[in-house]
Amino acid sequence: MKKRSPRPSQQNISFRFRFVKLPVTWEILTGARWEQYKAATPKNVAAKLKRELTPDEIADFERRIPAAPLLRGQMRKIQTLDSEVLTEIADLRSLRDEFFALPEGDLDTLAGFLNKVGAWPSSGDPSKGTPGYALSFPVFVQPDEVWAFRRDLDDALLDRNRQSFKEAVTPVSSRPKTWLDLYVPHPANDFHLRFELSNVVAGVVTLTNARHALFATVLADIARGIRFKMCARKGCTVPFPITSKHGKKYHSVKCGHLALVQKQREVERKKREAEKRRKRRKSSRGQGSQR
Ligand SMILES: [Zn+2]
Repeated sequence: MKKRSPRPSQQNISFRFRFVKLPVTWEILTGARWEQYKAATPKNVAAKLKRELTPDEIADFERRIPAAPLLRGQMRKIQTLDSEVLTEIADLRSLRDEFFALPEGDLDTLAGFLNKVGAWPSSGDPSKGTPGYALSFPVFVQPDEVWAFRRDLDDALLDRNRQSFKEAVTPVSSRPKTWLDLYVPHPANDFHLRFELSNVVAGVVTLTNARHALFATVLADIARGIRFKMCARKGCTVPFPITSKHGKKYHSVKCGHLALVQKQREVERKKREAEKRRKRRKSSRGQGSQR
């Protein structure tokens, strides 16, 4: 007898994330540039409100401006909305590795990364925890907030804090049971799914800001139960999935090579130091015998 295939409604449909880069360029605001921005903000607000601000209001705006350094992202003016082709960054895993490899505190490489990925939500924004929301430009990002976000992802991947991450981000039950459950906001865990009906039927979730895209990859990995560990190379901060190859210590072949070079240099340095000590001992003994 021919085996009956499951009813269509019971078939699983796979989905994937698609990250589309928006044309946003980033610059670092620090020193005089930041002062300029700080001075200009109340003026811009006044122009928008079409009235003078009171000294109290000016002081209030100045107080609310985050301390330097800041990163400012501006959306390039798009002339023709329907013909400008946006680029897709297809390899999200590599992008995430690149994000984890950024040296913490290095503003230039962070700005470079943001220029590569485009949109990133503002830190001071009320939608800080809501990366899926539409952004208004220019956006301002505090570097410290980016590093804190990265540490959160790290904790979630490395299992240090997976439980609290789950509680904070994903609903306890995916199925809302009450009216209220429907309204509990989990904005970072809120995605718009579209069906792609080409040769393969699949769901596609399109994301347009890098923070949400990185976040989505972490959610997907956690949902699949993938365990991670930190790359063993000194100075590398990239976690990688634990696969059947248990001996794997480094997140990439390149890191493995670098670690080997680091180790060899260390051995040579120790050798040189031992040699120096030996010579010093010898010469001090020599001096002793002269007395
Ligand atoms: Zn590594």
